[in-house]
Amino acid sequence: MVFFGKSIHDRCYRRPFYDKGLFAETFDDEGARKGWCLYRLGCKGPMTYNACATTKWNQGTSWPVESGHGCLGCSEPNFWDAGGFYNALSIPDSDITRQAAYVLGAGVALGAAAGAINRNKQSKAASAHETVTIDDLDKKS
Ligand code: SF4
Repeated sequence: MVFFGKSIHDRCYRRPFYDKGLFAETFDDEGARKGWCLYRLGCKGPMTYNACATTKWNQGTSWPVESGHGCLGCSEPNFWDAGGFYNALSIPDSDITRQAAYVLGAGVALGAAAGAINRNKQSKAASAHETVTIDDLDKKS
C-alpha cells in the first residue's frame, strides 16, 4: 500500500496544472516548457498505481514525468496493450463521467419539476384573471 496505494496522478507535482486545465499539447510547445500537465500527450499517470512520483528513479534523480515524458503505466497489468503511449486517456481518473450523469439527471428532474410548478402557476394566474364579460357584470349588479 505504501508504494501502490495511490496513483502517479495523485502524487504528481504537475497535478495543479491538470486541475487548472493547463496541458502541454506537444513535447516542445510553451506548455511543455512551463511544465504543464502531460495528460494530452498520453500520460497514463491517472490509471497507474506506483510511487515513481515520490521515490523517483536512479537514487532519486528524476522520473519520466519530471523529464518531460508522460507516464507509460509500466506497473499496470498488460500496460503495452492499453492503447498507444501517446494517446490521451479517454476516461478521467475520477468518477467525473458518472457525476456528470447524476448532475444531468438531477438537472432534468429539476427542470421537469420547475416546468410543472410554472404550469400550475400559469393555470392559477389564468383562472385568477378570467375575462369578465358584460353578462358577468350584469349578474353582479
Ligand atoms: S496526467 Fe500525468 S503529468 Fe498530468 S498530473 Fe497526472 S500524472 Fe502528472
